[in-house]
Amino acid sequence: ALTAGIVGLPNVGKSTLFNAITQAGAESANYPFCTIDPNVGIVEVPDHRLDKLTELVNPKKTIPTAFEFTDIAGIVKGASKGEGLGNQFLSHIRQVDAICHVVRCFQDDNITHVSGTVDPIADIETINLELILADLETVSKRLQRVEKLARQKDKEAVIEFDILAKLRDAFEEEKPARSVSFTDEQQKYVKGLHLLTSKPVLYVANVGEDELLEAENNPNVQKVREFAAEERAEVIVISAKVESEIAELDGEEKEEFLEELGIPESGLDQLIKATYTLLGLATYFTAGEQEVRAWTFTKGIKAPQAAGIIHTDFERGFIRAETVSYSDLVETGSMSGAREKGKVRLEGKEYLVKDGDVIHFRFNV
Ligand code: GDP
Repeated sequence: ALTAGIVGLPNVGKSTLFNAITQAGAESANYPFCTIDPNVGIVEVPDHRLDKLTELVNPKKTIPTAFEFTDIAGIVKGASKGEGLGNQFLSHIRQVDAICHVVRCFQDDNITHVSGTVDPIADIETINLELILADLETVSKRLQRVEKLARQKDKEAVIEFDILAKLRDAFEEEKPARSVSFTDEQQKYVKGLHLLTSKPVLYVANVGEDELLEAENNPNVQKVREFAAEERAEVIVISAKVESEIAELDGEEKEEFLEELGIPESGLDQLIKATYTLLGLATYFTAGEQEVRAWTFTKGIKAPQAAGIIHTDFERGFIRAETVSYSDLVETGSMSGAREKGKVRLEGKEYLVKDGDVIHFRFNV
């Protein structure tokens, strides 16, 4: 399963946020694929479509889909040189598929900032630089090996050399690998390098609990937004402290509290949705009388693979995917209504599953 790592300097609010994630806690019994690890928090993906489907179908139970956040502690300046938990930290980042980078935007004189002042851009750059230096080392090692062969005009080595040199140049300018453009073919090779700075990133601006409503006027948030815009990265504004309070509430209580705060959606819910998209994930639904359920798939997969997410037998014996889009189903009001209107398609093995598809798989046992 894909996971997003929570990263940030000490004292920025990572643990507070991660506690909110585990507090909000999904029932892991529903998600046997999930890891049981104290550094991993399972979150359910908020999705209003699931409520609507439940209303239409009136099933015995409704199960949202879920994914994992991994808490990655321990980065300090010099990590790429093995400072602090340096190497361990980097190897943990290597294992995640996307990065949520928490940045301190709150002022609190009682809480020390590692470098003395609250300066979100310096913080971001400190971490990014450690990752870039680690990647520079990876690429330099490779270059040494490839260079000789490239000089002997080994065709493959020449191609590799060009890519590696381009990456090295970017790293020397302190730019991440994701900022370098490559052809699709080159991109495949780059993927094989498992670089830390190739991973997609979003920034989490952690503001004070009393600043949540006016967060956009917070100069630190504005700086983070400007920085992120250049990378075309998303920014989610939260107050980790508030989130840890919200996470203790359920259903109605949560709604009331959000209303009191004057915000339509909790920061954590926004973060979950944005991270899901960042990971390249999307949702299809199954809607039976027993159970209405959301399933996570990686964008770009075909119907049999999507069936395999429910059960390997579904993939092996796949015949057809009876499919209706969520919006067509809601418009026609029921499965039979959708069928009458010709909105239910019989899709085959080559069908690319779309976000919001409601699917009934037909298979041989
Ligand atoms: P970590 O080292 O990044 O995991 O940071 P922690 O989550 O342990 O937070 C460090 C300190 O900052 C703790 O005392 C938190 O209570 C505090 N903190 C975190 N978020 C906020 C916030 O939004 N407002 C204030 N005032 N304090 C916060």
